[in-house]
Amino acid sequence: EEALLNERTPRSGEMFARADRVLAAGVASSYQLREPWPIYLSHGAGPRVWDVDGNEMLDFHNGFGSMVQGHAHPAIGRAVRDRYEFGTHFAAPTEDAVVVGEELARRFGLPLWRYTNSGSEATMDAIRIARAYTGRDVVMKIFGSYHGHHDTVMVSIGVAYDRIGDHDHPAQLAYGGGIPQATVDMTVPVHFNDADSMDRRIVELDREGRKPACVIMEAAMMNLGVVLPEPGYLEAVRDVTRRHGVVLIVDEVKTGLAIAAGGATERFGIEPDMVTLAKTLGGGLPSGAIGGTAEIMRVVRDGTVYQVGTYNGNPLSMAAARASLLDVLTPRSYEHLAELNDRIVGGCQHVVDEHRLPAYALGIGAKGCVTFASEKVIDYETFKANQDVELSELAWLYNMNRGIFMTPGREEEWTLSVTHTLGEVDRYVEVFAEMASDLTR
Ligand code: PMP
Repeated sequence: EEALLNERTPRSGEMFARADRVLAAGVASSYQLREPWPIYLSHGAGPRVWDVDGNEMLDFHNGFGSMVQGHAHPAIGRAVRDRYEFGTHFAAPTEDAVVVGEELARRFGLPLWRYTNSGSEATMDAIRIARAYTGRDVVMKIFGSYHGHHDTVMVSIGVAYDRIGDHDHPAQLAYGGGIPQATVDMTVPVHFNDADSMDRRIVELDREGRKPACVIMEAAMMNLGVVLPEPGYLEAVRDVTRRHGVVLIVDEVKTGLAIAAGGATERFGIEPDMVTLAKTLGGGLPSGAIGGTAEIMRVVRDGTVYQVGTYNGNPLSMAAARASLLDVLTPRSYEHLAELNDRIVGGCQHVVDEHRLPAYALGIGAKGCVTFASEKVIDYETFKANQDVELSELAWLYNMNRGIFMTPGREEEWTLSVTHTLGEVDRYVEVFAEMASDLTR
């Protein structure tokens, strides 16, 4: 399958040879890497993308889950073009920023908002706000979770199984070079789906005079496929953090606007102190947002924290966000996404059962995946112990060779768009069934 993909993409190979001379490793972001070369895309329309070799693919990657609106959506195109005619950037507030804030406050039940240009900036600023509000430095996160590329959260993301450490004290490890050890020491990981372990760790840290400022987490882990919270877990986390006076930041960069109108906050009925958004918010334009309670956001209001950025609330991004929220991601769209996801999850699970594959299908809102694991994944430990890396790799190649465009990381989920139809999700299931029968023949 690997040789076949390389045969299908000679122009990407040529492009890579050229790119390699001017871009470090030939790409704009290390997440775009693939051996021996990445697939270079030329255009997209609705649920489809085309690579530079002219291969047409159904897009289930969707810009790492940013394009729930689908590619080149006319409503967003109109909003961005109209905005461009009247000026692109002032670094002064515009009406769209107010409208977007009003809609986010309504959807997420948090009154005060600020904007950023990416998810990383959103989590960076949210953590700074939580630190200023509590007067503490330590940050608690979930082992294996990704929250962006700033130093504080580039800790304990992906490691080999034997380096995880013991369950209550997972290893604090920098994710790549260039991250100061002093910063790593201030980020304490705990495992997902275990609120008692979180509680014990906070008590321990408190005894050492290192109580965390915040817990930053996703309500469903979205970078090990999809790992759903077990019943009662999120409620217990809310209880633990409240009891200890620790700010609960729910990172909705992937879940917000993609799994429900009001993200995981709505879907699971959580009461976060803060949420962070990005990706789908801007429908392909750089954007991010932080929402918080009036009490916490006071530190921004009164000038204790400088939450700043030349491009924050950029008019083009805000115009795209306004059109996304008001015209594209409507209640009807979320119903459509749920219907598609039920179909694809049901179809894939049927294939798994029929062929007795060591796998299971899972979905939520616009997102889902087939996880190749012999046992259900509930956290990073069980992911590492059970994931079938070879099968995951093969599924990716199999998809790419049959016109199903997926994220280069084998640990990511699919993202559906409002422009996908039953025909497209059925094609996904068909390709999966083909792989399953080839494997078990
Ligand atoms: N938080 C989560 C949960 C994410 O999945 C990501 C990106 N995959 C980020 C933050 C960072 O967002 P960005 O890449 O826009 O900086």
